[in-house]
Amino acid sequence: MTSYHSDPLDALRLGPGVKRPRRLRRTAALRDLVRETTLEPGDLIQPLFVVAGDDVRRPVTSMPGVDQRSVDRLVTEARELDALGVKAVLLFGIPGSKDPHGIESFADDGVVQQAIRTLKDALPELVVVTDVCLCEYTDHGHCGLLDDAGDVLNDETLDVLRRIAVSHGEAGADVVAPSGMIDGMVGAIRGALDDEGLQRVAILSYAVKYASAFYGPFREAAEGAPAFGDRRSHQMDPGNGREALREAALDVEEGADALMVKPALGYLDVVASVRERFPELPLAAYNVSGEYAMVKAAAANGWLDERAVVLEALTGIRRAGADLVVTYHAKDAAGWLQSGR
Ligand SMILES: [Zn+2]
Repeated sequence: MTSYHSDPLDALRLGPGVKRPRRLRRTAALRDLVRETTLEPGDLIQPLFVVAGDDVRRPVTSMPGVDQRSVDRLVTEARELDALGVKAVLLFGIPGSKDPHGIESFADDGVVQQAIRTLKDALPELVVVTDVCLCEYTDHGHCGLLDDAGDVLNDETLDVLRRIAVSHGEAGADVVAPSGMIDGMVGAIRGALDDEGLQRVAILSYAVKYASAFYGPFREAAEGAPAFGDRRSHQMDPGNGREALREAALDVEEGADALMVKPALGYLDVVASVRERFPELPLAAYNVSGEYAMVKAAAANGWLDERAVVLEALTGIRRAGADLVVTYHAKDAAGWLQSGR
């Protein structure tokens, strides 16, 4: 006779009424139906590096798939992004010449100013976001003007940031994105834009930017590595989470329209806490060059499935609370999303 207890597995079987979350994971359609976080091409912002010259398309070695482009080579790329549903680009300029004060950063015919005009002419609907900082334009590679000891001068730098933002706004930028972590930058830029009748230009503030080693490959792409020292006097210490809320609160007070946390993957707790504290503002996270390069290197070696890893990482950044993700994977990811997972 077979008693209930004769099968040793019986003791492990769940009784009636037990909760079974696996029911909703049984088929792809069920999983799609109950997915909490979506990822769409329209959530992504593609950074683009603009260089001086004509017909230039120069690969960035440490970021396979990323090129520096001259203004005339930007429109094709922007059209391809647009066709894939990526509606926003973030422009970084690499000027023809650099000097201690970074004067080309606010030149009317600077590379970024030309790029904005060209892109807005060709694709008026494209959202053009511009980086507002000095590090690509100064010969010393720092994010501001320096005193004799080589320290970044805060308030003097604000004057230059005002001029850069106004020149981008006048060229037609939709959004300016100050990235230097200079105290008071958002308020200074808002005031300057409003004084010049550029109330329509929004500010996406790099409110929470850490002094991160994950920016390494970007410095090759933007040719903006500091010639000496580092950026720890203005960018945040990676050990600090609560300080992020203070930085974000100051930028909200100064008039930021949207906030950014950078980098993304090592700082998802910060993304989540900024999201929770400032639910009313759009939040972006910057999936930085080092995060991109790691995936590219592993994929090139056959160690990772690039498509699966990228979509998972971007979804994770969205799940942590980012509305928007700035990422060098934007174009590829949009293509993969359009063709179905
Ligand atoms: Zn900078």
